[in-house]
Amino acid sequence: MAARQSTDVAIIGGGIAGCASAYYLAKKGLSVTLLEKGEIAGEQSGRNWGFVRQQVRDPLEIPLMIACLRLWRGLEAELEADIEWRQGGILHLADTDAGMAKYEAWLEHARTYQLDSRKVTGREAAELLPGMARDWVGGLYTPSDGQADPVKTTSAFAKAAARLGAEIRTGCIVQGIETAGGAVTGLSTEAGEIEAGTVLIAAGAWTSAMLRRLGLDLPQLGVRSTVLRTSRAPEKTALGVWFPEFGFRQRRDGSFNVGAGASVDHDIGVDTLRHARAFWSVARDQGGSLDLHLGRYFFEDLWVHLDRAGALGYVIKPRIASDLLAAIKEAHAGRSFVSPSVSSGAAH
Ligand SMILES: Cc1cc2nc3c(=O)[nH]c(=O)nc-3n(C[C@H](O)[C@H](O)[C@H](O)COP(=O)(O)OP(=O)(O)OC[C@H]3O[C@@H](n4cnc5c(N)ncnc54)[C@H](O)[C@@H]3O)c2cc1C
Repeated sequence: MAARQSTDVAIIGGGIAGCASAYYLAKKGLSVTLLEKGEIAGEQSGRNWGFVRQQVRDPLEIPLMIACLRLWRGLEAELEADIEWRQGGILHLADTDAGMAKYEAWLEHARTYQLDSRKVTGREAAELLPGMARDWVGGLYTPSDGQADPVKTTSAFAKAAARLGAEIRTGCIVQGIETAGGAVTGLSTEAGEIEAGTVLIAAGAWTSAMLRRLGLDLPQLGVRSTVLRTSRAPEKTALGVWFPEFGFRQRRDGSFNVGAGASVDHDIGVDTLRHARAFWSVARDQGGSLDLHLGRYFFEDLWVHLDRAGALGYVIKPRIASDLLAAIKEAHAGRSFVSPSVSSGAAH
């Protein structure tokens, strides 16, 4: 199929959000072009645990997850693909009374939405997950929660969208969103321009930066988390399990996805300061499981922001900056460690 130059909806990003949107929009009869800078499910959607979870969600997310589960149950048939869906339930375990009290408080929200979530005792938890090496105060269990393979699901959405006529372009960076008279008119990409009356930004961690170029402010910060996969093991459980320190689920081939629970790292950058107010309560609730790092990244990020804003010439007086650059270049003659952004900023 020849590359389309005009489309009803242009989607930026081939993660689960972009690919699912491409499918449902194509199903509505719209022409859709999805652009992905790398490969389908190559970023966050290819690294997640694969829990499809209502349990312990923010109350605002619960109605959305109830609606999602209705879709998930019929998704393999709808997309005509194996996505390793199974509804084996999710179990959160608590090793303190305080941990258990938090789950009990959350159950109030579950009752509001008539979820099948329930409190379990330590003994019931051991029956749900036999063979545990230690005892637990208790836990929270939602039998209707499930799990799926994120890469298979995202790819299945992309393929189903393509079958409905959507164009899925991988290895194509979107460079900018075009506007005229305050309205979106399309995209500029490394493969040329695409006209589109609607642009859907599903660019994951890059979304905020993309919107900023349009003068729109979306508070977004990045965190690092760890997830690993084991080799295959005998079938143990169909549950998704959260211990206080880590969580796991067993995949269909017997291997385990193991994640470092809610423990995350954040490198402090300029956006941390810019969005501090928006994320303050999240950081507070995360407590000891959030590690903040102030180091090299902050200064690199600050430099990039100052450069982009054309402010380097003001912060560092042009003559001093060019003298400094010349001295650095002389000291490191022949070695090109001075980045282009430093050079252009200092030349102002
Ligand atoms: C360790 C971990 C565990 C998780 N576990 C779960 C879980 O168990 N259950 C759950 O529901 N969620 C989980 N999540 C969250 C889930 O992974 C994300 O919510 C989801 O993958 C986000 O999808 P997305 O499509 O928005 O973003 P992404 O998957 O990141 O997709 C965005 C895409 O946009 C592309 N892109 C960006 N800029 C451009 C550009 N300029 N041009 C072209 N393409 C561009 C990127 O290459 C990328 O492929 C987890 C996340 C992590 C990190």
